[in-house]
Amino acid sequence: MLNGKCECEAVRYRVADEFRYAANCHCSNCRAATGSAFKPFAGIEREKLEVTDGADRLLIWGDADNNHTRCGVCGSLLYSVVRDGSYVHVALGSLADTPAVKPTEHIFVGSKAPWFEITDALPQHEEHG
Ligand SMILES: [Zn+2]
Ligand SMILES: [Zn+2]
Repeated sequence: MLNGKCECEAVRYRVADEFRYAANCHCSNCRAATGSAFKPFAGIEREKLEVTDGADRLLIWGDADNNHTRCGVCGSLLYSVVRDGSYVHVALGSLADTPAVKPTEHIFVGSKAPWFEITDALPQHEEHG
């Protein structure tokens, strides 16, 4: 299992190291949600992630089955519930441990920040990979 946490450590979670895919998303929503050039994330079945601390302090933006889940104290983005609740996209920066997967592609490069240059050799996709 991998441990994850928010910046202030009010929220902690555990997730199986069994991610199905991982990517760097450059879409405008991910850039705004993270305040960064892109969001590295990895997808896994929702039931494989468990909030172990601070479940009553979550800030859930969206509905139960499609949302961004953040710490309600410090605001760190932890994960997003996607695909009608079947998967979560874990914000890789919230992991305290090292997952077996690494992002394999850049997606939504068509809406990439103009001030950021991709300098690695990973495949780039205009939209979905
Ligand atoms: Zn926090
Ligand atoms: Zn995105």
